[in-house]
Amino acid sequence: MLSLPLDDGSILCISVRTSSRARRLRLVSGIRGVEAVVPAGYDEDKLQEFVQYKRDWIIKTANYYSRLREKTGHTESDVVYYLGRRYRVRLVKDRLASAIVSDGLGTATFHVTDMRRYKREIEQWYREQTAKVIAERLPGLSARLGLTYNKFTVKRQKSRWASCSKKRNLNFNLLLSAAPAEVIDYVIVHELCHITEMNHSKRFWQLVESADPGYRQHKEWLEDHSPVIGVQGL
Ligand SMILES: [Zn+2]
Repeated sequence: MLSLPLDDGSILCISVRTSSRARRLRLVSGIRGVEAVVPAGYDEDKLQEFVQYKRDWIIKTANYYSRLREKTGHTESDVVYYLGRRYRVRLVKDRLASAIVSDGLGTATFHVTDMRRYKREIEQWYREQTAKVIAERLPGLSARLGLTYNKFTVKRQKSRWASCSKKRNLNFNLLLSAAPAEVIDYVIVHELCHITEMNHSKRFWQLVESADPGYRQHKEWLEDHSPVIGVQGL
């Protein structure tokens, strides 16, 4: 945790996360606060320097999000991402669980059977959406790349978007449907490529790039949004 003293005497906290996958230092500002994602072995003085250099930007975005939190009365659990878009959560007590996502209103209305367990019900909804998207996209991409998998599962995973086992079983994080369609495709392609290359070698990334020329951007979307959605790394 880093602290940035402000002119009014208060202190802004910046959480620091070390990532072996990060190639460069980055700052991510979101509704939950400001986070620094630091490559492994990064010099702490340099981090301090970078934070000072980015001071104006940090304060500006932190103010923006704190105003947004106040204005909307939102806490982190009141927002969901679905297919790359951000929605305000509305909860309605009902006899049957269901969800209505409205692009026009920017809301996701969850009809929940038990208000105390609404997070469980939202998770279940994510699980179903993710399973549907994977079932739609995976067979076609597998055929296109000529890479055959055994089976796929959608799981609750804390720190990974997806993984591939030696037995060619693919696991996908139940929150994956939070990402835009092209990013979901990238994650599928990434795991399929692990069927022939069980590593992150140069050859692996060349294979990914030939299947998804825009993969760098898609990877970056995940890196930027993982702290907000609650998943780290791939
Ligand atoms: Zn990988």
